[in-house]
Amino acid sequence: MITGKNQIGFTQTATGNVTYKTINPLLNKENPTVFYEATQQEINTACALAHKAFHSYSQIKGSKRASFLSAIADEVEALGASLTDMYMQESGLPEGRAQGELGRTLGQLRMFAELVSQDKWRNSTGAGNASGLKKALIAIGPVVVFGASNFPLAFSTAGGDTASALAVGCPVIVKSHPMHSGTGEMVATAIIKAAQKTGMPEGVFSNLNSAGIEVGEELVKNTAIKAVGFTGSHTGGRALYNLAAQRDTPIPVFAEMGSINPVIITQEALSNRGSQIAETYAGSITQGVGQFCTNPGLIITVASDEAQAFVNDLANNLSKVEEGCMLHPRIQSGFTSGEKEMAKVPEVTFVMSTDSSKENHAAPTLAVVKGVDFINNSQLHKEVFGPFSMVVLAKDEAELLKIIENLEGQLTATLIAQDEEVATLQGITLALQDKVGRIIYNGVPTGVAVEDGMTHGGPYPASTDSRFTAVGNHSILRWVRPFSFQDFPSTLLPDYLK
Ligand code: NAP
Repeated sequence: MITGKNQIGFTQTATGNVTYKTINPLLNKENPTVFYEATQQEINTACALAHKAFHSYSQIKGSKRASFLSAIADEVEALGASLTDMYMQESGLPEGRAQGELGRTLGQLRMFAELVSQDKWRNSTGAGNASGLKKALIAIGPVVVFGASNFPLAFSTAGGDTASALAVGCPVIVKSHPMHSGTGEMVATAIIKAAQKTGMPEGVFSNLNSAGIEVGEELVKNTAIKAVGFTGSHTGGRALYNLAAQRDTPIPVFAEMGSINPVIITQEALSNRGSQIAETYAGSITQGVGQFCTNPGLIITVASDEAQAFVNDLANNLSKVEEGCMLHPRIQSGFTSGEKEMAKVPEVTFVMSTDSSKENHAAPTLAVVKGVDFINNSQLHKEVFGPFSMVVLAKDEAELLKIIENLEGQLTATLIAQDEEVATLQGITLALQDKVGRIIYNGVPTGVAVEDGMTHGGPYPASTDSRFTAVGNHSILRWVRPFSFQDFPSTLLPDYLK
C-alpha cells in the first residue's frame, strides 16, 4: 500500500502541503506517487513518541527485540516483487542488484536478531557479585537515520543503521531519502506491521519524508534525539555533524562520507600481471556505475614503461564498458561537474572519457596525473562519485610514500603486490594504516562483507569517528554507552546484571 504519507509511530499522516515525487532515472520521468514533506508538528510528534517509547523498548528482553527484528525481515521479505519493482523504478538499478541488496538487508536484520537474543553483547562485568560495581552497555536513546541514496535497502529504512540501533534498544526515526521514498515507505510499513505483531511500543519507529534539508536539520536539533547515522556526501555529513555539535546538548553523528579508496600497485605486480590487474580494475571502477563508497577512485604507482602499459590497458578495458544509468539526475549532474572540475586542472590528462549518449547515464573516465602535481593540489583528492578513477604516477618510491602521507582519511586502501616482495612493504602498509579503516591485499575494494571482521569506516573525512564501523555486529557500538551500578540492591538491577 503506497500512500506518500509520513509514518509516525503506528499512524500515517500527511498534514503538510509541500509535496514531491521520486524519479525513474531510466525513463527520465517522475513516478506517480505524491510524497508529503513532514511538517514541524509531525517531526515533533515522531520525536516525542520515540522519547516515550525509549524506556519500555530498551528495557524489554533481548529475545523480544530479536523477535521484532526477525518479524521485520519476514514482513520485508513478504513484499516480494512489489518491493524490488519499486526499488528499480526509483533507482534505475537492475533486478540482480535489487535482489542482492534485499538479501543483504534481510541477512543483516536476522544477524542482529541473533546477536541480541542473548545479552552477551552488553559485555557485562560484575554480574553475580554480591555487591560492588556492575557495568554493562545500554542503549543511548532515540536515533535518527538518514537513508542513503546509493543503497535504497541495505543502508536505508531497514538497513544496517536502523537494524543495529533497534537491536540494542534505540527507537529509530528514519529521514527517508527523497530519491527512493516509495521504497522507503513500503519498508516502513513492513516495520510498523512487525512492531504491532510483536507488541512493540508505539513510537519505536517512524519514517519521515522530505525533499529538502530542513526536516533532517529539525530532527538532529530535537532534544529527544541522542545520536545520528548518516551515509552520503561530505557536505551533508559535515553539516549535520556541525549542527549536532552546536546543540546545547551535543550528540554524536556517525557519518560515513566520501572516499577515493587508494590502490597502490608495485612495479613487480605490474611487470608480472599488469594486463590482468587492468581488466579486474576496469570491472571494479565501473561496478554499479561507480556508485559505491568503496569505488577505487585513485590508483598510485611509480612511473615506468610497465605503468604506462597498465594505463593503456586500463583505458582500453574501460572503453569496452557500456555507459550505465545513474541513481538520479542529481547524482549524474554531480558526476559530470566533478569530471569537469578535474578536466580544468592543466596537469591532469584524461586518457579515456566518453560523453554519455542517454539521459542520466555515465560512461567511465580515466585521468592521469604526476605525483608532484597530485601532492600540490588537494582539489585532485576529491571524490568524483561515479565511474571515475585517477592514476597517479610517482617519480619514485619515496614520492609514492609522500603521496600516501598527503592523503585524507579513507574507507579503504588496496595493496597490489607479488608475494615475494611483501617483506619490503611494511613501510607502505603502516603509512596506509594511518589513513584508512580497511586495507585489502591483492583484491578490489568494492564489495563489503557483513561480518565481524569488517571495518566500514575510517579516519575523517571518510567518517566522523574512525573508532566505529557501520557494517557488521560491531556497528551496534555506535548506539550504546557504558553504564555502572554501584552497590545496588538486586531487585533494582536489570536481569543481565543480577
Ligand atoms: P547527500 O546530498 O549527502 O544527502 C543524503 C541525505 O542527507 C539526504 O536525505 C539529504 O537530504 C540529507 N542532507 C544533505 N545535506 C544536508 C544538510 N546540510 N542538512 C540536512 N540534511 C542534509 O547525498 P546523496 O543525496 O546521497 O548524494 C549526493 C552526493 O553525495 C553524491 O553525488 C555523491 O557525491 C555523494 N555520496 C557519497 C556516498 C559515499 O558513500 N561516498 C554515498 C552516497 C552519496 P535531501 O536530499 O532531502 O536534501
